Amino acid sequence: FDSIAIMTSGGDAPGMNPAIRGVVRAALSEGIKVYGIQRGYSGLIADDMSTLQSGSVSNIVQRGGTVLKTDRCIAFKDPAVRAAAAEILRRRGIGALVVIGGDGSLTGAHLLEEETGIPVIGIPGTIDNDIFGTEDTIGFDTAVNTALEAIDRIRDTATSHERHFLVEVMGRASGAIAINVGLAAGAEMILVPERAIDVAAISSELAASRRAGTGSSGIIVVAEGPTPGLTARLAEQLREQGQDPRVCILGHIQRGGSPSGHDRVLATCMGAMAIRYLCAGYSDIMVGVRDGSIIDVPLDDVIRFRKGLDPSLLDMALQVHR
Ligand code: ATP
Repeated sequence: FDSIAIMTSGGDAPGMNPAIRGVVRAALSEGIKVYGIQRGYSGLIADDMSTLQSGSVSNIVQRGGTVLKTDRCIAFKDPAVRAAAAEILRRRGIGALVVIGGDGSLTGAHLLEEETGIPVIGIPGTIDNDIFGTEDTIGFDTAVNTALEAIDRIRDTATSHERHFLVEVMGRASGAIAINVGLAAGAEMILVPERAIDVAAISSELAASRRAGTGSSGIIVVAEGPTPGLTARLAEQLREQGQDPRVCILGHIQRGGSPSGHDRVLATCMGAMAIRYLCAGYSDIMVGVRDGSIIDVPLDDVIRFRKGLDPSLLDMALQVHR
């Protein structure tokens, strides 16, 4: 390829910047020109892009968010819009597209390739770690550590006031953040979308540990789940059962912040490997991790299959409070 384009799409994740840097530096070293597309698919269909030099990605490796900006672009779900997007890329002589984002963004990339023949490479950038075919996603480690720091602080208050706190972390469909944060924080309970919530059982467990003198305070980590307001509703139901938990919703603080060392290394390697795969003629794949090594995963599989939680981790997490 003479030229490629790169974008970030969907929710921002810490580590997107080192991934952009990895792609740009690897491409330039191969003599490939790189266009940076602004605001994901919205910028692509508006032809909002400019060339990136080596210096364009200096001093971003440590910054959260994404310097290319990101967006959700409903219009890109329309095949006619994707055809127009391919035309824009072709007119500029851009031979391939690298997309950094979550499963929605990777779905868009796969469809673009399938329908228009534009080669695409996906990089999993999402704090949720919910993408099939890869053990890790860019931003997950940072988000877990950010939530953990917050929970350690909340525990000080919970202990001092002898209270239980319901702490809501991100994860609409996946309990990956909740389980990792819960285990690391020594949470008394972890509630995830993969398991039904039994309010009566939680209430009696809290009451029993209080009676036993072992549980006057504690942290219950709750993944936000698919419907907004879950944690507030749960607190209300627990109050009706005689408990008095406090609620803390961590929200967007989990998405920002300087990427951890782990995420910087992961993102840099994934970015560089995306270019290596492109140069080797691969397309319609995502760069993933298996057994600690970088691998290629067909995008078709990525969007067709759902990633489940590691069953042993899930069992361990659900047992910690017993
Ligand atoms: P995260 O879940 O981490 O926020 P994501 O990439 O899954 O990231 P989405 O909002 O699902 O976030 O998708 C981002 C963008 O990808 C959408 O706004 C849209 O432009 C594109 N996209 C998502 N789903 C599709 C689809 N089925 N077809 C085409 N494009 C899609």
